[in-house]
Amino acid sequence: MSKKVIIIGAGAAGLMAAGVAGKLGAEVVLIEKNPQPGKKLNITGKGRCNVTNNCDADELMKNIPKNSRFMYSAFSAFSPQDTMAFFENLGVMLKTERGYRVFPESDNAHDITDALVRFAKMNGAKIIHDTVVQIKTENGNVCGVKTVSGEFSCDSVIVATGGVSYPLTGSTGDGYAFARECGHTVTEPQGSLVPLVGETDLCKSAQGLTLKNITLTAKNAQGKVLFSELGEMLFTHFGISGPLALSASAHMRDFENERYHVCLDLKPGLLHEKLEERILRDVEEKKNKDIQNLLRGLLPARMINIVLKKAGIDGETKANAMTREMRRCLRDTLKELRIDIDGKRPVSEAIITSGGVNVKEINPKTMESKIVHGLYFAGEVLDVDAYTGGFNLQIAWSSAYSAGMYAAQEI
Ligand SMILES: Cc1cc2nc3c(=O)[nH]c(=O)nc-3n(C[C@H](O)[C@H](O)[C@H](O)COP(=O)(O)OP(=O)(O)OC[C@H]3O[C@@H](n4cnc5c(N)ncnc54)[C@H](O)[C@@H]3O)c2cc1C
Repeated sequence: MSKKVIIIGAGAAGLMAAGVAGKLGAEVVLIEKNPQPGKKLNITGKGRCNVTNNCDADELMKNIPKNSRFMYSAFSAFSPQDTMAFFENLGVMLKTERGYRVFPESDNAHDITDALVRFAKMNGAKIIHDTVVQIKTENGNVCGVKTVSGEFSCDSVIVATGGVSYPLTGSTGDGYAFARECGHTVTEPQGSLVPLVGETDLCKSAQGLTLKNITLTAKNAQGKVLFSELGEMLFTHFGISGPLALSASAHMRDFENERYHVCLDLKPGLLHEKLEERILRDVEEKKNKDIQNLLRGLLPARMINIVLKKAGIDGETKANAMTREMRRCLRDTLKELRIDIDGKRPVSEAIITSGGVNVKEINPKTMESKIVHGLYFAGEVLDVDAYTGGFNLQIAWSSAYSAGMYAAQEI
């Protein structure tokens, strides 16, 4: 007799688990509260879906700051290379970009969702539009789920409800409530890959300005470098956002006990000496101009006041009155403009949720609960999260592969 498996949530993890369990002969019902599956998946990677990272096992583990060891067996069973072969076999050709990030050749995330829906359906999974409100258990075993419109009985349930970020996509933290009701502990969810709040007045004055080709370095109070990368960031009314700020946020994990700041190198292409030579040359050429005018050739207009303020230099000072000390200070500020960070924006604005179902209570090989027999977890609902680069979706694929496989096995 085939096993009856119910999967809650048709996102990345749920769709993968549905196809895997169906392929092994299980009778699969996938319940999704949105009218269409994969709502979040469709907006991943700015609509292009960074589907995985074509890296080796060591690199994969390094990109998961918390509970990476929990994922070890799941990654061995379904690696990034397996993910790539999986999608190519489903007809989605892939390409690898900078930092081994893998995208569909079409640059269209919908192709990934469509392939997964095909995979689930071709293996017999039924996708139902409904909302699960409770998981039913009897003597420590799963026996069904209650939904808004009725009840379903089953042998296993896979919870693939995601986290709490971008709640409009359907991820509203329902899985945490189910887990708690079944006796699990849930590590308090907080945002990761999320905009950063700090120096509000200063940042507000440049609101909307994008800085390209800068280096952002995140440090703790002791000056330890936590993250440093070249790229793009954006000033907002509350602080900073954009790819560099989001990536840096994943390294700032303890605002209760730690202080953080970022340093912007606005001229990463020029070493200190070269930059000073450049300033000197400008001074020679434009002796009678104000320093604020002098900086027009070096910086976007809205950055000039910020840099001068940070350097403690009056912008109306004439270039020929600039002392050596002022010049050095200007150079150092351009190379290391400090912004103190006070916190993160709420988890609802985060790309991913850090925290979730305590992995100590889950069997890492099968993704089954150690508390309730027949209950499985996969994807972002688990307390595992990663940096940017396709690693978060890889967590979803691998955990779902294991959950789907073991949930489908004969009783
Ligand atoms: C803007 C954005 C861009 C991103 N880009 C990338 C990227 O390029 N690469 C990458 O690796 N990661 C990316 N991520 C992260 C990635 O999207 C998630 O890690 C991944 O989607 C998690 O998959 P999941 O299946 O666990 O959860 P989700 O994809 O959130 O799916 C959960 C599903 O469960 C459904 N659900 C919830 N509760 C119930 C219920 N009670 N009943 C029925 N259904 C329910 C939800 O409607 C939802 O469809 C991005 C995230 C965001 C927000």
